[in-house]
Amino acid sequence: MSFDPATLGSLSLEEKRRLARELLDSRREEHPAYTDLTYDMAMHSTSAEHAESRRFGEWLKAISEDDAYSFEAPRLGGQRTEVDILRESGEVLHVLNFGSYNYLGYSHHPEVIAAAKEALDRYGLGAGSSPILSGTLKIHRELEGRILEFLGLEGRAVSLFSSGYAVNTGTISSFVKQGHCVVLDRSVHMSIQEGAQLSKARTFYFRHNDVGNLEQVLRRLAPENTRVLVCTEGVFSADGDRGRLAEIVELSHRYGAQVLVDEAHSILVAGPGGRGVGEEQGVLRDIDLLVLTFSKAFGGVGGALVAREEMARYVNWYARCRMFSCALDPAVAGGLIKVLELAAGSDGGERRERVRANAARLRSLLADSVSTGVSESWIVPVMYGLGRLTFPLNDFLQKTGLETNIMQFPAVPKDESRIRLFVTAEHTDAQIDRAVSLIRQAAQRFGFAKEGT
Ligand code: PMP
Repeated sequence: MSFDPATLGSLSLEEKRRLARELLDSRREEHPAYTDLTYDMAMHSTSAEHAESRRFGEWLKAISEDDAYSFEAPRLGGQRTEVDILRESGEVLHVLNFGSYNYLGYSHHPEVIAAAKEALDRYGLGAGSSPILSGTLKIHRELEGRILEFLGLEGRAVSLFSSGYAVNTGTISSFVKQGHCVVLDRSVHMSIQEGAQLSKARTFYFRHNDVGNLEQVLRRLAPENTRVLVCTEGVFSADGDRGRLAEIVELSHRYGAQVLVDEAHSILVAGPGGRGVGEEQGVLRDIDLLVLTFSKAFGGVGGALVAREEMARYVNWYARCRMFSCALDPAVAGGLIKVLELAAGSDGGERRERVRANAARLRSLLADSVSTGVSESWIVPVMYGLGRLTFPLNDFLQKTGLETNIMQFPAVPKDESRIRLFVTAEHTDAQIDRAVSLIRQAAQRFGFAKEGT
């Protein structure tokens, strides 16, 4: 039995459910009924006693007892290209690691570790206070300066946050408020959507990367009469394609709207100097609110807003998740400074070249057997569609030796589930080839291989 994920969109919900059930029923022995759970099945209940957590708990117990629960399994070491992971059964699996967005391999670079240790010795484990009160350390100021130097932007300032998620929620909710408007690409990350909700501004969507549709929305809003913020991404986390930043920035400014670009997955990797898709498309200086995360190619944690000085200083005070939360860890800040130094030099250039070549290899080898959607980057999604396949599929992949980054509803629309493969500069050709063969095997078994493969 097989189906084409590309045609799922044309089916009714009933038909999709029937298809998933048939597929799982045909493999009932391997995948008992408890694997039929989808994320939304335990999201709501009206009962007084929180029936959804009971339902979820019963399912979790059943799936764990049968050693079929593959999520949250701890790694026994850092995020290298092969890792040992500990399953709940106590078994240790050695797997190829395509599940971590440590794109340039900086999380375990010896010079980065040494710089982090030095900062740890000097400043201690935690920053000890909110950055607006007593938590700003000299190393934070150094990091801000290095970020601006790396980006080559004058007249801007940096607002540091302890997560990339918080940069989006904090920035958007302090930039737009009730009575204003936010216009989001349909595929933006949850943190942008949550920032919009938190802001209480009116939220509008445009079709993914569809500049014509954005113009229709902006024309209707008449931005000259209100504040409008358009939000998009450099490289999209769900699809691995690039935002059409040059067109979006030009159009939005023409209509008097401002633009937030989240370069979480593109900073250090995209662009000739690693300054992101904004650099690649020649609009880095024109982006009003530039969002960076340190959890991806930096190999650390935290994030930053880069904006004109007044704006960054305002956000420092008015982003509640920054003001009421502890400043970035000093050891992480020390490591990030070293990453910027390496990424600006030949080391960064070589790593960027390798990650791009590796991604091109992976995409081209997968092309004839599965759908990788519109990916054109180091994020390579493999579409499997039906949410009900998520748990058995992830379990199967892990047990056959491949760790990936599964994405299902609500991160993507229902039944547009996908395996995401994160390619890094450190993967070898042999590791990529092996991953392709394991994906092909899974695609045959779970019915998402292209016809004739
Ligand atoms: N923005 C995007 C586009 C992301 O993909 C993510 C996380 N995957 C975030 C923001 C949040 O970043 P962090 O993990 O640093 O909180």
